[in-house]
Amino acid sequence: MMTLDTPSSSSSSSSSLLISRKDAHIVMGYLHYERMKLAIKLARYALDHNETPVACIFIHEPTNSVIAYGLNATNHSLTGVAHAEFMGIEQIKNLVGPHHLMDFFKDVVLYVTVEPCIMCASALKQLNIKKVVFGCANERFGGNGTVLHINKDKALLNAPSLPKAESASYEAIPGILRKEAIMLLRYFYVRENKSAVTPRNKAERNLDKETFPDLIWSTYIDRETFIQEFGSAQSIHYENNSDLMSFNDDIDWSLIETPWDDIVEDLNEKCQSFNMIQRKKSKLETV
Ligand SMILES: [Zn+2]
Repeated sequence: MMTLDTPSSSSSSSSSLLISRKDAHIVMGYLHYERMKLAIKLARYALDHNETPVACIFIHEPTNSVIAYGLNATNHSLTGVAHAEFMGIEQIKNLVGPHHLMDFFKDVVLYVTVEPCIMCASALKQLNIKKVVFGCANERFGGNGTVLHINKDKALLNAPSLPKAESASYEAIPGILRKEAIMLLRYFYVRENKSAVTPRNKAERNLDKETFPDLIWSTYIDRETFIQEFGSAQSIHYENNSDLMSFNDDIDWSLIETPWDDIVEDLNEKCQSFNMIQRKKSKLETV
């Protein structure tokens, strides 16, 4: 198992200009984990507000900043298209304006607890997103490999509205906090059924906390991409279809069983500080 108890030590050793390949992969893995944690907290928040626990955050990669977030709002909005990704895309639209949107998105990485559906995967492609990182598979509607491979699909690349074909295709990396994402969905289905004949506590007793489907890496990325992302030391997980981001060697129960009431406030603050830096920058550029 990959352990990352001392991420600061690995990043401080990188202060010498040369950062070893192995260190780079550990730092990247740690970043994936930390960013996805925010998305998981937000998904838990969605669960506590009677929504499907699917949530995302958008990262501006060059500045390592949270710039937008989204949570599922299909219950409250009564529309089937109010997916987490669209909420975040709207925020970014407001941030940079419609004209710079595609240029801006080439530096943006999405972290989403559940694989984007076919609709969202297509929207993200048309916006020219850099990369998607997700937790668990979307078994019924997944558009990043599970059902369709929209992010690599050639037909969509030929659409006249899209930029250069090569740049529009994006990698979608699965498996970050995957079991946590699955557990949140299981909690949701237990709550959904609480009005059913089975009493809730009985349903919760039946909640499966032990078994998880395999993670078939090759459904989503090739071996080369896997090694680029996580390093060759981890490649055994690629062959074994097993999880690698098990930072605690187990599910992070406290992460998914805590109601993160302040998470929206917290994310708003993060987004606002990026917004302010952007405004200052554009002011300087116009002087
Ligand atoms: Zn969607």
